[in-house]
Amino acid sequence: AFNANVAAASSALNAFIVETPELAVQAAQAVDADRAAGKALGSMAGVPIGMKDLFCTNGTQTTAASQMLEGFTPTYESTVSANLWAAGAGMLGKLNLDQFAMGSSNETSYFGNVISPWKLDDGKDRAPGGSSGGSSAAISARLCPAATGTDTGGSIRQPAAFTGITGIKPTYGRCSRWGVVAFASSLDQAGPMAHDVRDCAIMLGAMAGYDPKDSTSLNLSVPNWEAALNSDLRGKKVGVPREYRMDGTDADILESWDRGIEWLKDAGAEIVEISLPHTKYALPAYYIIAPAEASSNLARYDGVRYGLRDLPDGAGLQDMYAATRAAGFGPEVKRRIMIGTYVLSAGFYDAYYTQAQKVRTLIARDFAEAFTQCDVILAPTTPTAAFPLGENSEDPLAMYLNDVFAVPASLAGLPAMSVPCGLNKDGLPLGLQIIGNQLDEQGVLNAGLAIE
Ligand code: GLN
Repeated sequence: AFNANVAAASSALNAFIVETPELAVQAAQAVDADRAAGKALGSMAGVPIGMKDLFCTNGTQTTAASQMLEGFTPTYESTVSANLWAAGAGMLGKLNLDQFAMGSSNETSYFGNVISPWKLDDGKDRAPGGSSGGSSAAISARLCPAATGTDTGGSIRQPAAFTGITGIKPTYGRCSRWGVVAFASSLDQAGPMAHDVRDCAIMLGAMAGYDPKDSTSLNLSVPNWEAALNSDLRGKKVGVPREYRMDGTDADILESWDRGIEWLKDAGAEIVEISLPHTKYALPAYYIIAPAEASSNLARYDGVRYGLRDLPDGAGLQDMYAATRAAGFGPEVKRRIMIGTYVLSAGFYDAYYTQAQKVRTLIARDFAEAFTQCDVILAPTTPTAAFPLGENSEDPLAMYLNDVFAVPASLAGLPAMSVPCGLNKDGLPLGLQIIGNQLDEQGVLNAGLAIE
């Protein structure tokens, strides 16, 4: 049924870059054979999933939604996707995203924007969020029951909020980055996107785990998050950060936040006001650190090793680099590379990059202090509901502002989830964000269960 849905709806939403129905069928057949042979089945046995096209998949094109990687077929499998296949999942296809995961609306994809299945009668298509916009659109349109996402500065949580689904970014280091196309290595984290908290808990359990091939992978066993799900929050304290009541946040979002607070009280939690004093510096710090790391990571696309090569007649090596990078990267990717190169350059390193790193430490300390007063934090995921496609695409700063509530947890490496919290007055979905302390995915999932 999911294969038929994908075939029928994929052109309307442009959620998939490549469809692989045969792989989903093969996985289901393998599960059937194991069942018939009396073998134990994995936690994802027979579940057909979408794979964000940032994960390298052996034998299936992996593009990061960039012309730079068009036609690149890895000969290896990312650890996270390998873990999912080992747990019995099958791949329906590779999902569209913002180019190299840079964006908040999926409009920077070389393969065209994704359209959110959520429609209003004003005739304007909505953004599915980004960068995991193919994942969010495909799940909310019921093309697949779950998909992988990656979150560097909100790319799981913001698209989940825009499309009325659930997504969790675990603690930095829970999921291996090996075989995931790198954007900003100190921030990149994979996580599940699905319809509800329980599905996310099951899928995260399959994705996570220590991997010696990623030097920042956490050498810890994976808890059974699903088994410990519990929406009884008696004895728990939920922090509500004062600084997240920002100008420019929609009234609908503030109301949904108040609703969430009431629901958590009903579940037994005590609500405490907390302060995260450096919140307003998180967005500028993120938009220095992430481009800085991106400029370094993307240096590898030189026309020699991967994908595209543009070798003009009679050109030398330098000309080939320049022509390949000029042709292969989209405008947002070039903007990030230029910002990143600038903030890392000799004259500006201390003024920008070093300062941003100091801010990052202050933000992590804010959270550490807050978690002496509460167990989890409740905040909006985004300042607005999904905006119409095209509305912010000419204005990078307006686009970046979308990430204002998402990036602090990213800079601090903390687990954070978006759960649906009703609709706004126009009928578009809203999400609430739960941020947990280091390694406390369970606390985040449990609070999410109390809200959904
Ligand atoms: N929207 C943010 C950015 O453009 C986050 C992207 C992400 O998390 N991959 O950088």
